[in-house]
Amino acid sequence: MQIFRELSGLDRLSATWCANEEQFSLVPTMGSLHDGHLALIAEGKRHAARVAATIFVNPLQFNDKADLDRYPRDEEADLARLEAAGCDAVWLPSVEEIYPSGFATTVSVRGLSDRWEGEFRPGHFDGMATVVAKLLISTLPNFAIFGEKDWQQLAIVRRLERDLDIGVDIIGLATIRQDDGLAMSSRNSLLSNEERRAAVALPQALEEARAAIGSGDHILVSTLLAVARAKLAKAGFTKVDYLALVDANTLEPLDHAKGEMRLIAAATIGGTRLIDNLRVETDTVSR
Ligand code: AMP
Repeated sequence: MQIFRELSGLDRLSATWCANEEQFSLVPTMGSLHDGHLALIAEGKRHAARVAATIFVNPLQFNDKADLDRYPRDEEADLARLEAAGCDAVWLPSVEEIYPSGFATTVSVRGLSDRWEGEFRPGHFDGMATVVAKLLISTLPNFAIFGEKDWQQLAIVRRLERDLDIGVDIIGLATIRQDDGLAMSSRNSLLSNEERRAAVALPQALEEARAAIGSGDHILVSTLLAVARAKLAKAGFTKVDYLALVDANTLEPLDHAKGEMRLIAAATIGGTRLIDNLRVETDTVSR
């Protein structure tokens, strides 16, 4: 695996791939890699002969400085994991390379960014969209792989890729979970043992609401969401930023089952804010 601190290295390598008619997938990450990230690498390899990852903890998408400071980082372990997963190259840009002095452009995806995460983390999606646009345009991969774990992020990335005609195929990969159902997340390492045990209430609450909506019983969606919130409170979640049934594409809230749906949630346990989401289908109930 080739490790680059500067884009020029990855550019030269991708030019040789291109000359050999080898396509490549890009997997953007913020490091602190877990099996969910490694599944994105494997998905990248399914689509193209070559896979490159980026590791960049993007300061622009942290609305809270304390959150940025406490974000877990472990470069050595990350590089070993990427290498073992068969990643061909990794680019670890500096903040100065991504945002050189005088950098003044913001990519803002209106509408999709306004609600949910956007409401509770002001500026987060502008920061994310700006760096993703920059990473895609500067590396120009054939495919870019993102996790469904961040459903709203994926919707925004798809929109910005289309709007800016970047010419990269955006691929979404289903969420990878721990055995008990908790979605893998770099932030899980911030949970105490007790919080980690209790955190499983988040996927469970979503699963129960999904099963009830999927069963087609005429229970009000608002009632089911209230039950799910109560379950989280009982498990020790101190704050539920949102827990909603939404249209899977527009992210508009739904008060009854309709079309392609997603249950989305963000909730805090201890000092750690977790997000999760599930697909909801009214006929078959599958994750
Ligand atoms: P992050 O490093 O958390 O910014 O995430 C980098 C990429 O990994 C994003 O596309 C995430 O959606 C994806 N990702 C994070 N956790 C998971 C997971 N449990 N399963 C699948 N993809 C994930």
